[in-house]
Amino acid sequence: MKPKVAFYWCASCGGCEEAVVDLAQDVLAVTEAVEIVFWPVALDFKREDLDAFADGELAAAFINGAVRTSEQEEMAELLRRKAGAVVAFGSCACHGGIPGLANLYSREEILQCVYRDAPSLANPEGATPQLETDMPEGHLSLPAFYDDVRALDQVIDVDYYLPGCAPPTDLIRAAVMALVEGRLPPKGSVLAPDVALCSECQHAASKPQTPLIRGFKRPHELLPDPDVCLLTQGLICLGPATRAGCGAACISANMPCSGCMGPMSRVVDHGAKALSAIASLIDSTEAPEIAARAGEIPDPVGTFYRYGLPASLLHRRVYAAHANGGPQR
Ligand code: SF4
Ligand code: SF4
Repeated sequence: MKPKVAFYWCASCGGCEEAVVDLAQDVLAVTEAVEIVFWPVALDFKREDLDAFADGELAAAFINGAVRTSEQEEMAELLRRKAGAVVAFGSCACHGGIPGLANLYSREEILQCVYRDAPSLANPEGATPQLETDMPEGHLSLPAFYDDVRALDQVIDVDYYLPGCAPPTDLIRAAVMALVEGRLPPKGSVLAPDVALCSECQHAASKPQTPLIRGFKRPHELLPDPDVCLLTQGLICLGPATRAGCGAACISANMPCSGCMGPMSRVVDHGAKALSAIASLIDSTEAPEIAARAGEIPDPVGTFYRYGLPASLLHRRVYAAHANGGPQR
């Protein structure tokens, strides 16, 4: 009998689901090896289908997306009960991901922007979603929109982590086959190499070893030399602080690494590590000059915590208005 597996999405853009489809002909090998019993994005599965399985009956659940709503929390808990192993699939599930940048704002600020201030709105009454609403047609209910975004392991126990935005297909294939063949590493493992991206980058030889950065540039401000380390050219490349496994795909397209594979195992806070790695290469010993150079970096949180604010030591922006944010857990 084939192992049963589930795929599910929480606060997700759909790119991780696309990555499964991107297995192309390999997806056939995957479906040969496992029985996909729950994949609502691709096939018409319902919550009741999942309820019908015994606890622990599924071999694994691959869950992508961060957790923002009560429905996502409930589904994550249900999948945890039904599956022997839970794999946090993609940067959002592993670290909070792009949706986690919403932790820079309170729940109220987000609702204000989306339902009252957005220029394209037609909402004269300023109505916002309610948990319970009585209508002539019947009673309506919506999931609670929590005050913060969480990574999957901030909600349920997670067995394995498959990072990337979206995870590289080679790593997905290897993870599924390891599951099928019973070769999974110890619980808590990240299913990607535990070395920095620079180690698999074609520009490793020209990576700066000593401080040399005199200013930072954004990708649209220069045409990079395709044969030289992007960091050397002043582009903020997070390769020195980010886990390998993607084959340096972005670098091959002359785009600096933005950190989607997350940190290596020894790193406590990915953003702080990346900031430290970049700051140590600024060519100055004068504090005001270093501060001025660092001040040139646009959107520091979006640069250094783009994929991992919820899982970081910061987790979210905290300020007085936050106390009135809405449904708390
Ligand atoms: S990890 Fe990237 S591709 Fe996957 S859901 Fe999040 S934003 Fe989308
Ligand atoms: S800093 Fe970026 S471009 Fe330079 S070697 Fe590392 S990954 Fe490659």
